[in-house]
Amino acid sequence: MTRALITGVTGQDGSYLAELLLARGYEVHGVTRDAGEDVTHGVVAHELDLATDSAIAKLIADIEPHEIYNLAALSSVYQSWQNPALTARLNGAVVAEMLAAVKVISDRGDVDIRFIQASSAEIFGAPTESPQNEQTAVCPTSPYGAAKAYAHGLVGAYRTAGVAASSVILYNHESPRRPETFVTRKITAAAARISLGLQETLELGNLGAQRDWGWAPDYADALARAAQNTNADDFVIATGISHSVRDFVATAFTRAGVSDWQDRVTVSDTLLRTGDAALQLGDASKAREILGWTPTVKFDEIVSAMVDHDLALLS
Ligand code: GDP
Repeated sequence: MTRALITGVTGQDGSYLAELLLARGYEVHGVTRDAGEDVTHGVVAHELDLATDSAIAKLIADIEPHEIYNLAALSSVYQSWQNPALTARLNGAVVAEMLAAVKVISDRGDVDIRFIQASSAEIFGAPTESPQNEQTAVCPTSPYGAAKAYAHGLVGAYRTAGVAASSVILYNHESPRRPETFVTRKITAAAARISLGLQETLELGNLGAQRDWGWAPDYADALARAAQNTNADDFVIATGISHSVRDFVATAFTRAGVSDWQDRVTVSDTLLRTGDAALQLGDASKAREILGWTPTVKFDEIVSAMVDHDLALLS
């Protein structure tokens, strides 16, 4: 039986990936921060706070998983400015601990471990080249991006050293499991509340920012495909289509039946970010050719699924 270890198993991506691997008959182990977290049924949970504890190396040695998916991270670019050192630890140093542990096992020849790092479009910072691909210059503009860039570099270094490590550069990917710290869920939850008269207005930051938004389960599938691929490598995972935050608002409010969305949205300077990319757009041609991966859910469908979910929660 194939054994997988997922860090960040209780998050959006971790939960979709756990479901996918369990359905394929894997034995799935997951790292959780504390016992109170909601873990997908069937996952063997291991309680470990990656922020303070270096026991991840021992856990890897104990389990000897065939596949490791590192999805644990401080996931908010905004919050990374409030907690840069914690971001460095979770999004950077922990990856070093994990890869070192994997190398010891790989060097012994005990198990062929495939290591999959969930990287991010934020490693490209505010890119001047569009669309971005695996060759685009890594040039982060946030503590989040800088820590992810370090981890991306480490994966390359360990791959050179013989570890089967891949960096999967994920563009934004959304679902009803997103928390409201992300703009998409913040918008869909507010659109639902406003349509039911439970809220008057929504305060946002940069409405002009354009993001390449995909469907989170498709991105979990991409991670699994990267693990299955014979050669470890870097892959950009994106839809190749970008929309502005303003587009997202208009689509979500229309879906919720709110026609006067322009009057409902206010812009606050406090929500603007330093180094915020004006436009992110990914070119996933390599993933399509090598992994056979393509996005399956369109922008309008993503927005509708999230709005419908938020309306259902309130009714
Ligand atoms: P990120 O790309 O991983 O940081 O995902 P987010 O969903 O947090 O942000 C996506 C884009 O939405 C960024 O360009 C933000 O600057 C922009 N944005 C505009 N208003 C907001 C807001 O109120 N909250 C968040 N989280 N992002 C906002």
